[in-house]
Amino acid sequence: MSESADKINLLNLDRQSLEAYFAEFGEQAFRASQVLQWVHQRGAGDFDAMTNLSKALRTRLKETAEIRLPEVVLEQASRDGTRKWLIKVDGGNSVETVFIPEEGRGTLCVSSQVGCTLNCTFCSTAQQGFNRNLSTAEIIGQLLVAYRALGDTPKGQRRITNVVMMGMGEPLLNFDNVVRAMNIMIDDFAYGMSKRRVTLSTAGVVPGIDRLREVCQVSLAVSLHAPDDALREQLVPLNKKYPIVELMAACRRYLDGVPHRKITFEYVMLAGINDTPQHAHALVKVLDGVPAKVNLIPFNPFPNTQYTCSSPETIKVFRDIVTRAGLNTMTRKTRGDDIDAACGQLVGRVMDRTRRSQRSAATGRPAL
Ligand code: SAH
Repeated sequence: MSESADKINLLNLDRQSLEAYFAEFGEQAFRASQVLQWVHQRGAGDFDAMTNLSKALRTRLKETAEIRLPEVVLEQASRDGTRKWLIKVDGGNSVETVFIPEEGRGTLCVSSQVGCTLNCTFCSTAQQGFNRNLSTAEIIGQLLVAYRALGDTPKGQRRITNVVMMGMGEPLLNFDNVVRAMNIMIDDFAYGMSKRRVTLSTAGVVPGIDRLREVCQVSLAVSLHAPDDALREQLVPLNKKYPIVELMAACRRYLDGVPHRKITFEYVMLAGINDTPQHAHALVKVLDGVPAKVNLIPFNPFPNTQYTCSSPETIKVFRDIVTRAGLNTMTRKTRGDDIDAACGQLVGRVMDRTRRSQRSAATGRPAL
C-alpha cells in the first residue's frame, strides 16, 4: 500500500462530501450512492470494477482517487469468541478494534483517536498519551476490516449488528471525522445501520454533545463514573471543564424532542472508590429527570494500576439500589480479557506526542 498524498481516499468521504467531490467535475449527486455501494457494500478495491460508471468517470477517478484500507497487523481471538484487530494507521502508530459476539447480536468497538488526551486515571489508553486523530477512512476502515474478517456483507450475513465508539480515544474531540464515519455506517447505500445501533461514548465533552444533536442523532453513552464533582474530577479530569450539572443539562438537551430514547450512563466499579451504597443513592439523584439507563462496568485491571474491581456482592448491592429507583441497570459482562480486549485495556501502539507516557514511566506507572 503506497502513501499517495495527492490522491483522495474515498473511504474519507460520506454521502455529502462525495456529492461535493463529484459536483466539482460536473457529475450528478447520484454518483455518490453508486460509489458508496461499490466501496462499502461490494468491497470494490479498484475503479475498473465499477461498471455502472462511465469510462471517462472511471478514468478520472483512477487519476484522482483511491480506496485505501488501513492494514491489519495482528488478529487475536479470545476463548469467549471476542476478536481483536491491531490496525496500523501509519508509521509506528496502531489502534485496536474489538468484536464482541453475544446471543442474538454482535458489537464492534471502534477507536477514534491514536491514544487519548483525557487522562482518565482508570484507563490504560490514557497512560499512552496521544498522537493524533484518526481520519474518517481509518475509522470506517475498522468496520470494513472487521466485515471482511467475519465474512459480513451489508446485504447478507451480518454478525456485526451494533457499533460502539468506545475504543481508544474521545470521539467528540475528533468530531468531524467521527461524524462522517458514523454517517457512512447509517447510510442505506453503505452499511445501512439504524441510528439506535450506533453508539457514541463520551467522557462528557458538553459542546460536542450539543453539536452531535444537530448533525447525527446516534445513541449516546456518557462515561459518568462518579456522582459528585470532587470524585469525578479525580477519575475523569475533564470534569473540571464540564462539571456534572452542565453535563446532565447537555444530556437532557440531547434527548429533547426524541421520545422513547435513553442515554446510557457508564459507571466503572472501583473497589472502595465509587462503589458504596451512598454513591449509588447519589447517582440516582444525579440522574433524576434524565431518561437514563445505567451500565455498570467491572473495572478491568492493567499493569501497575492503583485500582481494583469491586466485588460481585458490592456490585450487586449497588445495582439493586439503582434498579429499585426505577433505572434500568445492567452489569457489563467482561469479555475478551484474556487477549486484553476488555474496556479500558485497549492500547494499540501510540507514538506519544504529549510525553505523558514518559511522565507515567517516571512515576512508576506503565508507559506501555
Ligand atoms: N472516551 C470515551 C470512549 C472510550 S472509553 C469515553 O470516555 O466514554 C469506553 C468505556 O470504557 C468508557 O466508559 C470508559 O470509562 C471505560 N473504561 C476505561 N477504562 C476502563 C477500565 N480499566 N475498566 C473498565 N472500563 C473502563
